[in-house]
Amino acid sequence: ALIVRHRMKNSSRWSRAMAILKEFEEKCATPIGKLWMVADAMAVEMHAGLASDGGSKLKMLISYVDNLPTGYEKGLFYALDLGGTNFRVLRVQLGGKEKDVKQQAMEAIIPPHLMIGGSNELFDFIAAKLAEFVSSESGDFQLPAGRQRELGFTFSFPVRQTSLASGTLIKWTKGFSIDEMIGEDVVSELTKAMERQGLDMRVTALVNDTVGTLAGGRYSDKDVVSAVILGTGTNAAYVEKAHAIPKWHGLLPKSGEMVINMEWGNFRSSHLPLTDYDLSLDAESLNPGEQIFEKIISGMYLGEILRRVLLRLAEEASLFGDVVPPTLSVPFSLRTPVMSAMHHDSSPDLRVVESKLKEILGVVNTSLKTRKLVVELCHIIARRGARLSAAAIVGILKKQGRDTSTEKQRTVVAMDGGLYEHYSEFSERLEGTLTEMLGETVASTVTVTRATDGSGIGAALLAASHSQYLGTEES
Ligand code: BGC
Ligand code: MG
Repeated sequence: ALIVRHRMKNSSRWSRAMAILKEFEEKCATPIGKLWMVADAMAVEMHAGLASDGGSKLKMLISYVDNLPTGYEKGLFYALDLGGTNFRVLRVQLGGKEKDVKQQAMEAIIPPHLMIGGSNELFDFIAAKLAEFVSSESGDFQLPAGRQRELGFTFSFPVRQTSLASGTLIKWTKGFSIDEMIGEDVVSELTKAMERQGLDMRVTALVNDTVGTLAGGRYSDKDVVSAVILGTGTNAAYVEKAHAIPKWHGLLPKSGEMVINMEWGNFRSSHLPLTDYDLSLDAESLNPGEQIFEKIISGMYLGEILRRVLLRLAEEASLFGDVVPPTLSVPFSLRTPVMSAMHHDSSPDLRVVESKLKEILGVVNTSLKTRKLVVELCHIIARRGARLSAAAIVGILKKQGRDTSTEKQRTVVAMDGGLYEHYSEFSERLEGTLTEMLGETVASTVTVTRATDGSGIGAALLAASHSQYLGTEES
């Protein structure tokens, strides 16, 4: 039903709008001092999460990856990447020390009903696509006779690993919600589904996308020591010293290192600038109280925050006229790619904003002033997310002792995710904030490198190094 508001005088409408904007801007502020408090809190929580399970909101999950790719990996391996709205299957022929890699991929969209349905339905769908993809194998991709195909499974949700190739789901995030899967072994669910498809394949590595991206990143650059995902969700993984993980009771790995999946999306701190919009978004989400950091930073939520502010402006300041556009009341009707398109509108009279408002919300005849206000909101929301992401990265650098280094030590962060890749106001702001926080000298030793879809190849590399056959060449 259309909600018809009483007519407000233009001038009082506009001053109400300005007041709402100003309050929002103040609540979202991220002055440098606050960013340092966030970075410090992140480093403190990292320590706490490594000390004991449940010691922190940061789960600091042990990945069982204690060796990153060397470049000697060899053979045919598959990878499957499940984590957001899309999933990908990948076939990789690794060439050993020549490092020539051939790959083929297929992408599919997860039908939304499968994200909140039953476990078998989701895994049957995935296994069927995988089987279809495997059946197209030919030419450059050939498996030596008598071998079983092997798969690296990138599963981008919090998993308590029990070994490199097994682990149980802790909880869902990013709009997935299949209760019967919680506490179940992800690899055995996939294996059973592959068997139902008649597909003979063995999962030799189960990895988070951050861990896969770190592995893929290390393959092309030996100075990669952490990986960050800024996509539908957000998270980071990094290389930790095994002796600095009190909760690890296993043998100390030969490398002395262990990759940790932080699950930083669940970070929470009193220093985070949270607004009423964030609190109501959280309360109405599929996972209230969880993933608070993710909900102010990642691609699934930025557009939704914008929608909530616009709705308030429409209701209380008649921003779009006397009628509140009905679509504006529909959760997630305004997606982050649309927000990004409006934010990057460089036409002088903001034609992109105009057309998006029309296309998405059915709003016509907006004034330039209104369109400028919309862009300003995009700016506030994206800036907060980007600056907090930078602060979180600085938290990791701090934990690794790489935040003050003036020596020639290079630090490379492998980065992936659609938000970082496609939202340049976001990625540029993030990089600018890193420099602002670290100072030019230290910042010049830190490189953020794009690792687009690096987690797939990373998972294939880990599948190779943990193959039941020889998956690497002698060094
Ligand atoms: C998940 C992480 C994942 C991240 C990025 C989060 O919602 O909890 O496991 O790495 O999204 O995909
Ligand atoms: Mg992904």
